[in-house]
Amino acid sequence: MTVSESGTSALDVDTDDERVAGLVDLVTVADGTTDTIPVEAPFDGEQVGAIPACGEADVDVAVERAREAQQSWADRSIAEREEVLSRFQDLVLDRQSELLDVVQLETGKARRTAFEEVQSCALTAGYYSHRGERFLGREKRKGVVPGMTQVEVNHTPVGVAGLISPWNYPFELALSDALPALLAGNAVVLKPAEQTSFTALKGKQLLEEAGLPADLFQVVTGRGPDVGPAMTDRVDYVGFTGSTETGRIVGEQAGRNLLKYSLELGGKNPALVFPDADLDRAVEGLVHGSFSNAGQLCISIERCYVHEDVYDEFLERFVAATENVELGTGYDFEAEVGSLVSEEQLEKVTEHVEDAKARGATVHTGGEPRPDVGPYFFEPTILTDVEMDMDLCCEETFGPVVSVYPFSDTDEAIAEANDTDYGLNASVWTGDTEFGREVARQIRAGTVNVNEAYAAAYSSIDAPMGGMKDSGVGRRHGPEGVKKYTEPQTVAVQKGQGMAPPDGVPYWLYAKVTTGALKLFDKVPGLR
Ligand code: NDP
Repeated sequence: MTVSESGTSALDVDTDDERVAGLVDLVTVADGTTDTIPVEAPFDGEQVGAIPACGEADVDVAVERAREAQQSWADRSIAEREEVLSRFQDLVLDRQSELLDVVQLETGKARRTAFEEVQSCALTAGYYSHRGERFLGREKRKGVVPGMTQVEVNHTPVGVAGLISPWNYPFELALSDALPALLAGNAVVLKPAEQTSFTALKGKQLLEEAGLPADLFQVVTGRGPDVGPAMTDRVDYVGFTGSTETGRIVGEQAGRNLLKYSLELGGKNPALVFPDADLDRAVEGLVHGSFSNAGQLCISIERCYVHEDVYDEFLERFVAATENVELGTGYDFEAEVGSLVSEEQLEKVTEHVEDAKARGATVHTGGEPRPDVGPYFFEPTILTDVEMDMDLCCEETFGPVVSVYPFSDTDEAIAEANDTDYGLNASVWTGDTEFGREVARQIRAGTVNVNEAYAAAYSSIDAPMGGMKDSGVGRRHGPEGVKKYTEPQTVAVQKGQGMAPPDGVPYWLYAKVTTGALKLFDKVPGLR
């Protein structure tokens, strides 16, 4: 097997499944790579295909080719790069049915959830396709000597951005971080999760159809420990989304390499329900917020604090609404919740729930796997009496499981919400939105939604999204989400007298005049 002209090489692992057939040809593979990894469909546990198990040599080829392609891409105007994002948005929306099929096939999620991520990626593409000049264009800044020092800032691309993405939102989390990196003039090398590489490859296919030069976006499939570290040793920026545990490994390596990086990690996200909340909206919002994507969502709600005045009523309605949630394996919009992604994930969720049950937690609904629906399905589950010694109390479960706790006053609720190493997302439910904002400001989380679970903040692409505490480093979305892929460069042009005493002027006089000027500048608004 040899590396083809385009830098890719087809291993003989293609599949008959027409939804993903041919995609494996888009993986960058070096001469000599022969190992493969099977990919299974969580809906039925059947193998749908296989992907190359890449290693260091493959990463080498991918980064080298990406680097070669990057320079001419960076030389293109921002408007030209924006056009590619704009065409990509159109393709994502027009070809969504193909995309939804692949996302569902690999993740086992409900089509509604697959639509949410495809829609979110389209929103991101549209957002950045109109703001390239605003966020990346040359900026004039104030020079030190008015009229004499002219300063501009250039937002130069970092070069090759390496992205490592998880399986839970494989289209959104792989592509939405790549888009601003590309807009900023970078090449991207993506290592998608083993389970969901076809979705990432589908994204590469659409980007190329939208006009992206072929070598600019490389996908290297394989196992995290084989591909991730090799990538972090070769790229100019690393962006990781996944577990806090793996994030620490990536961050340590990036730190050693003095590499710029961002990490979007786990959460144990709280919701606070106050007595003046609209309980109909709160129940509906928190069913969606806790069980969407079977709870495999970094910003989903796993802890629910409810004021004692409405606790019984809320719990009763929350349980009733959860019992109506429809599970299913269909490739249509009927089911609300789909499967967990894998046997491993089912084991983790089951262990958390069994441990809580054994230590005295009360199960109000759910609590069991549902092999009658599919091999990795787990029932949406509501627990109370969850204590600190139970695994699911403080660790991210990443499944359709939520614990409900009563509280009696606002300070107590805020303290409980903050009593976690994580700080990704939170949700506040109240009839008084000013009070909601006030509570939100006291919660240590990167996003807080008032009268919504997660989507209001996450989908507002103009605002930064990411984690405080152990939930991450850096932000995606907004100007922050694109500027992180750039190196700001200051160019200062000095006219006339330089930053030193003129010839013949003693330093004491220079110091005196400069001191007077500094005082004057501070008093005149236009000179500050
Ligand atoms: P990981 O964090 O291990 O995986 C995320 C990505 O990192 C994948 O692409 C993975 O590759 C890659 N990776 C794995 N090891 C390394 C490494 N040493 N260096 C660089 N990259 C690496 O999550 P898991 O898939 O193992 O899931 C475990 C738990 O993590 C879940 O139960 C859940 O709690 C949490 N999680 C949280 C997510 C979030 O968004 N908050 C997303 C996914 C998981 P590969 O697929 O090949 O292992």
